[in-house]
Amino acid sequence: MIRATAREFADNEIAPRAREHDRSGRFDTELGCFGLTEPDTGSDAANLSRHDRRGRDDVKDSAGMPNPSRPDPVAPPTTVGVVGAGTMGAGIAQLACAAGMRARLHDPVPEALERGRESVARGLATLERKRLQCGALAAAARLDPVAELAGLAGCELVIEAVPERIELKRELFAALSKICGPACVLATNTSSIPVTALAGAAAHPEQVVGMHFFNPPPLMALLEVIRAEQTGNRAAALARATGEAMGKRVIEAADGPGFLVNRCGRPFGAEALRIVGERLTAPAQVDRICRIGGGFRMGPFELMDLVGIDVGLDVARSLTELSFGESRWKPSPLQAQKVAAGTLGRKTGSGWYDYGGGPHRPDDPEPLDLDPTPVGGAPAVRLIGAPAELRERALALGLEIDAADAPTLVSCRRASLAAQCGDADACGIMIGPPLASARMAEATRLPGTSDATAGATESFMAALGLRVEWVGDAPGLVLRRIVCQLVNEAAFAIGEGVGSAEDVEAGMTLGLNHPRGPVEWSRVIGPALVLETIDGLWAERREERYRAAPLLRRAAALSAPSVAGP
Ligand code: NAD
Repeated sequence: MIRATAREFADNEIAPRAREHDRSGRFDTELGCFGLTEPDTGSDAANLSRHDRRGRDDVKDSAGMPNPSRPDPVAPPTTVGVVGAGTMGAGIAQLACAAGMRARLHDPVPEALERGRESVARGLATLERKRLQCGALAAAARLDPVAELAGLAGCELVIEAVPERIELKRELFAALSKICGPACVLATNTSSIPVTALAGAAAHPEQVVGMHFFNPPPLMALLEVIRAEQTGNRAAALARATGEAMGKRVIEAADGPGFLVNRCGRPFGAEALRIVGERLTAPAQVDRICRIGGGFRMGPFELMDLVGIDVGLDVARSLTELSFGESRWKPSPLQAQKVAAGTLGRKTGSGWYDYGGGPHRPDDPEPLDLDPTPVGGAPAVRLIGAPAELRERALALGLEIDAADAPTLVSCRRASLAAQCGDADACGIMIGPPLASARMAEATRLPGTSDATAGATESFMAALGLRVEWVGDAPGLVLRRIVCQLVNEAAFAIGEGVGSAEDVEAGMTLGLNHPRGPVEWSRVIGPALVLETIDGLWAERREERYRAAPLLRRAAALSAPSVAGP
């Protein structure tokens, strides 16, 4: 069930992106093949260079220490073994065949092996139908289903995609070490088990590496390569070469909780749950704000429903356990309650939304037009703490924004409205990020806010072409709070060496389909202003989850353009 919804997610959310990618003439992730020609993996020259490279030691730096940042490139393997013929294993085998490799697919359950073979044949037949020149029939002939694990002897790389149980994977690596010998690289597709914990079970732990494909593998453009403590440069380089031969954008992640993509994506759902837990707004409104205001294809609650609320809870539990209680990754009681009630999302017919019949939500409203005649039509206001860009935009439209006795609109970038104004007659506002293309503004009011001030806020925003979403009062209100926590998490991850800024960007945009990566968000907002919001949340919540990442604080202090570093 989860698999079906994940596929649906990919179909709806990823496929259009994959097709765009194809139009640029590069790898077609939907079809799982390169344009019109097959890579020549059988030539003498290709094999010679492969053998030449196989004997080489790992790259060492000037002090003779392994240098993981500059692994020597290696040629992709000719023969890949895949263990487990389920959703992921069959998809990986299909990718290998389409990339010109021989793929030996093993599953101890004969029916599962046959289903896997059929799935590969079906996937490759789609290639044949859509792109005759891809040589998909020849690709299908490169698949060898093998009933015994021993049939994987001689593979240069074996990728396991068996169920997510640590003992099962450890036993498998011990057995594969004996069958495949010391030269074979053993890769795991685990999404949550530390690769270091699996590598120790192999006879040659330096030959073990994580290759985290995303579901469905033929469609998703990203591969996360994870280095265990023990992983040698050759194993990491072979994993990268294999992914690149399959047409993937390969990113490298350290072996920590959630690796790179799952970790950096946490705040999207976690902060949304916090906002709803504080009763600042309801799930549907958070989603609408993220879609209209932030350009996300799907809001966090829609995404939780799609993936399965139970899956999300398990991931949060696993990250918390592996990090010995990191507060940013703790599960939410709201998730646990949904799981206890058995309302797990789309797969059970209800979760944060009801999927009983018809669409689960109304279409988003059309954007407002800029009011063509704002002068005289929109009331004068007094803007406090608003960015220069907003002031300039208002002045360009002839709006009055500094009238002393006019309704007061206060930016909530640094603090809640209540913390700034007590119970004065004022409204709190946030627009964007980014402000330039915003179609929506968030606003909040206090018990002391008059209807006249609330009305003036709506008229002022309408004159700017912005529809108002009324939400509860908090630093950063909704969208900015979520986005700033995404930036903060990325700053922790980059600062801790989980991955490069470039790979974090690729991970969030290609792996999670975010409209921009967290480094780019930090560039749009500015690190100093992101820090203001995080510090504002810290000041008012006094919770560890709102401590600023050292890299973010440093980027703000250095006036760096982003958290990628000065
Ligand atoms: P799946 O249940 O679809 O397939 C697992 C297959 O492994 C089954 O065909 C089963 O018969 C086989 N199997 C069981 N015991 C085996 C053994 N001892 N030796 C060989 N094969 C055995 O699972 P899946 O969704 O393909 O997930 C596989 C792995 O990929 C897991 O580690 C999972 O965490 C990871 N992963 C899954 C996804 C996803 O969205 N499904 C995404 C990324 C990573």
